[in-house]
Amino acid sequence: MKIGFIGLGNMGAPMAANLAQAGHDVVGYDVLVKPDGLAMASSAAAAAAGADVVITMLPNGDILRVVAAEVHGAMTLGAVHLDCSTVDVNSARTVAQAAEAAGLAAVDAPVSGGIGGATAGTLTFMAGGPAAAFETCAPLFEIMGQKVVHCGPSGNGQAAKICNNMILGVTMIATCEAFVLADKLGLDRQAMFDVVSTSSGASWSMNTYCPAPGVGPASPADNDYQPGFAADLMLKDLRLSQVAADGADADTPMGAAATELYARFVEAEDGAGRDFSAMLPRFAQRRRG
Ligand code: NAD
Repeated sequence: MKIGFIGLGNMGAPMAANLAQAGHDVVGYDVLVKPDGLAMASSAAAAAAGADVVITMLPNGDILRVVAAEVHGAMTLGAVHLDCSTVDVNSARTVAQAAEAAGLAAVDAPVSGGIGGATAGTLTFMAGGPAAAFETCAPLFEIMGQKVVHCGPSGNGQAAKICNNMILGVTMIATCEAFVLADKLGLDRQAMFDVVSTSSGASWSMNTYCPAPGVGPASPADNDYQPGFAADLMLKDLRLSQVAADGADADTPMGAAATELYARFVEAEDGAGRDFSAMLPRFAQRRRG
């Protein structure tokens, strides 16, 4: 396929490289970076012209809206705009409507798996959009990832992503605060892991990404909390969950509490640039109240 790839940062560059490596004709565009070995266009519209699929991997919904307005007019009728960025549900739905009005199709397919997954081609995609457009993108998902779920109409990929990450933020905080309580009660961290990881308190945060160094499988905790998944990105996703909850009139008290805690951690404490599991040493330094 002929693919335009716009947004070649930490995630976009390795995803585009994997598509080119698999034999697709990829032309990239980014306002800042020029990754080695990838054919580049001089504008977003030039990267999109003549492409079967235009992929965007951008920082946020405002930038996505601007780039979509730049590229839709340049795309071939019937082509697909596949947005893999994490953005607010409203932006995803607005961009999909604009694509449809321009005679195109749109799929929102945010990812989980981070830079490691983007490089290894093992991302998970959660996709929203019409079935035919989803089918067009399916072979690309297979190259860039190892799992894709079609979640329904436009915006539902973003909805799945923020719901998942709201659970993740909440369970990570719960796991970290429970470790600190266990410490203070004299319970060994290994014993805590052995019990909880095989009991009803188990979660991905405990079992796969344990925030306690030296306990459980290797995780960013074992690497001085270098990300991994940065607390800043968790904060971004939690904020998106709260914008969505406001818009949908959904009561999400735990999501709101997690958003507040990560905001404090990233913006007023030492959480910026650290893995999101560094909540554990944060709680360990604190006292009740
Ligand atoms: P990044 O900041 O490294 O990359 C974004 C790129 O977009 C940059 O290179 C930037 O120059 C480019 N860009 C900005 N405005 C542009 C424009 N108008 N036209 C063309 N290019 C433009 O971010 P990233 O880590 O690659 O993340 C991309 C998206 O993926 C974000 O929405 C993020 O939330 C999501 N995501 C990231 C991770 C992760 O671990 N990094 C994991 C899952 C999802």
